[in-house]
Amino acid sequence: MIDPLPILQSTFGFPGFRGVQEQVVSRVLRAENTLAVMPTGAGKSLCYQLPAVALDGTCIVVSPLIALMHDQLRAATAIGIRAATLTSVDTDQMETIARFRRGELDLLYVAPERASNESFRNLLSQSPLALFAIDEAHCVSEWGHDFRPDYRLLRTMLDAFPDVPRLALTATADAHTRADILEQLGIPHDGMIVAGFDRPNIQYRISPKDNITRQIADIVAEQPGPGIVYAQTRKGVEQLAERLAATGRKVRPYHAGLDPAVRARNQADFVASEDMVIVATVAFGMGIDKPDVRFVAHAGLPKSIEGYYQETGRAGRDGDPSIAHLFWGAEDFAKARQRIGEVEPHRQPGERARLTALGALVETPTCRRQILLRHFGDPAPDNCGNCDNCLNPPGAIDATEVARKFLSAVFRTGQSFGVGYIESILTGQSTERSLMNGHEALGVFGIASSPEEAALIKPVSRALLLRDALRTNDFGGLEFGPEARGILKGETTVSLLVQPKRERRRRGAAAE
Ligand code: ADP
Ligand code: ZN
Repeated sequence: MIDPLPILQSTFGFPGFRGVQEQVVSRVLRAENTLAVMPTGAGKSLCYQLPAVALDGTCIVVSPLIALMHDQLRAATAIGIRAATLTSVDTDQMETIARFRRGELDLLYVAPERASNESFRNLLSQSPLALFAIDEAHCVSEWGHDFRPDYRLLRTMLDAFPDVPRLALTATADAHTRADILEQLGIPHDGMIVAGFDRPNIQYRISPKDNITRQIADIVAEQPGPGIVYAQTRKGVEQLAERLAATGRKVRPYHAGLDPAVRARNQADFVASEDMVIVATVAFGMGIDKPDVRFVAHAGLPKSIEGYYQETGRAGRDGDPSIAHLFWGAEDFAKARQRIGEVEPHRQPGERARLTALGALVETPTCRRQILLRHFGDPAPDNCGNCDNCLNPPGAIDATEVARKFLSAVFRTGQSFGVGYIESILTGQSTERSLMNGHEALGVFGIASSPEEAALIKPVSRALLLRDALRTNDFGGLEFGPEARGILKGETTVSLLVQPKRERRRRGAAAE
């Protein structure tokens, strides 16, 4: 077998392999089919780039995003690897095909839809192949969080070249998705190599949304250095960016609706900067190599634990202390449930399991890292010492009584009012609306007016929404979900976490 170390040092300029890279590369050099599960930043690209340089023939890299391919191409070309992309937007397709035929390419990046194309398969038979590398391999699984039907076409192409080894790569795959990838791509079970997922220098924190601008401004003030703030919508990005800019930090927005030139400039400025905050949709960050991101904040619930891990994983790649702070709203859960109702029925159980896992992560009084690592099948200690719950263990209080009062008020008022109105009924605040609706005559009017109970009403409403005891209708009104019955009947209790007050180091005035 070829010795990979001299190539690692001469072509890539790295003194040694990291983590499982050596194991993966050795398997590939022995022409063994392999699935490498490695977290973002662990150095997946090297696992196929090095064999591509070492072996005769071309390595075909399947990648889902053209932008990502072009980033990879630039990086590979910069270190002298002979590489090209073959995509619909490339104007040099004829030249690339000619180079491939002459055996002049180490790497050829293609989109998955090519794989089903017979003339492409025909082209592949015209020059020796070293390897098939399938990047973002979780896209092949319907169980995965980012299923792409085109990935299903890969198998035909792979099977057409049974002697060419396959290397599937992914950062994010739970046990179910991993098994699915192996099956779909014809990789044996003992061909799976999983790297450790722990990122000990990232401090995980999770809190309910309260005043999101102020909450994010606090982090920006606490943590100097570059940071990424993820918002859920373009409008959310614009608003947050504007308000954060008022705190005096350098802030740029990034979303798909911006002019491509502006977007590219904002990204480049962020990568070059030492103190900029970029407010972005989740589209931002793929393929970006910025090691010194000091914090990642989520202004809303991510799509899945996989997504959360990938997005927070962009913090602290240099190994220095970094913060990942997620702010979630009860309405995020309600909306996500609504969306699940709209996907094809056979995908709903998987989507529901993903949401439940997120619910467990945000609600846990125990170590966040433990939940994350267990999700990826990694061993984890009970107490990591570097997450909010380990640093400031939250207390739990029984809020079942207030939860039942809340549910009764929702029921008595006809399941059509929002949190604010229900709160005013429970605390007995007379308003024009409550008078007109005749709700002041109800038995629930003013039944939670003590300051202790009143303070629990909002957190209780969040807990009820998160648990699917309450849902929101299209007009923002609350109605019962399937979990309401058990609580009303006294079969289920509702406990709330009480976060000890964190000391705030606030510098400058937060915008609002
Ligand atoms: P991934 O695709 O797994 O997110 P990349 O392939 O982009 O990660 O690699 C992340 C960073 O690690 C890159 O800057 C890369 O140059 C660097 N890197 C990869 N392998 C090594 C190594 N063996 N030694 C040092 N740095 C490495
Ligand atoms: Zn912990």
